[in-house]
Amino acid sequence: MVRSRAYIALGSNLSEPKAQIAAAFAELSRMPRTRCLARSSLYLSAPISAIAQPDYVNAVALVETGLDPYALLEALLSIEHSRGRVRMEQNAPRTLDLDILLYNDLVLSGPHLTIPHPRMHERRFVLCPLIEIAPDCEIPGLGRAQDLLPALSGQILQKMTE
Ligand code: ADP
Ligand code: MG
Repeated sequence: MVRSRAYIALGSNLSEPKAQIAAAFAELSRMPRTRCLARSSLYLSAPISAIAQPDYVNAVALVETGLDPYALLEALLSIEHSRGRVRMEQNAPRTLDLDILLYNDLVLSGPHLTIPHPRMHERRFVLCPLIEIAPDCEIPGLGRAQDLLPALSGQILQKMTE
């Protein structure tokens, strides 16, 4: 079977975010033909939104999967749904957000799926946990994740003690 590697960003700011992320890590390994190879620490971040809302808990996981990118997205959206996420406007509070950051070194841009995730390089709460589990990570078209971090030093992010 063809095995691919994908980095998944996890985020939650409703209904006990820390527990949501812990449950989501477990759910990732339950996706068909998928196992979790690494998970980052949990991070607390201030929301990027005009809407007043609680802080986020964020993390990144590395999975090995036999799912193609679209099947992987379907599986992630179904986990979001099962955790009670109600889809509202962009940047609204959410019980669980699961995004595909990278899928091997694939570059893909379509109406329902863009890889690398189009906003990942602007988000410290994505890059820090990503670098924690993949220090030499390269983002296709953008270069080393490490090199993108200094520009984001203004964003508040705190590693959580578990
Ligand atoms: P966001 O994560 O940007 O806050 P949503 O979680 O509401 O937004 O996602 C909206 C849609 O974004 C999803 O239904 C999905 O089709 C699309 N999408 C495009 N690229 C990706 C990606 N790399 N990972 C996850 N979703 C993506
Ligand atoms: Mg999302």
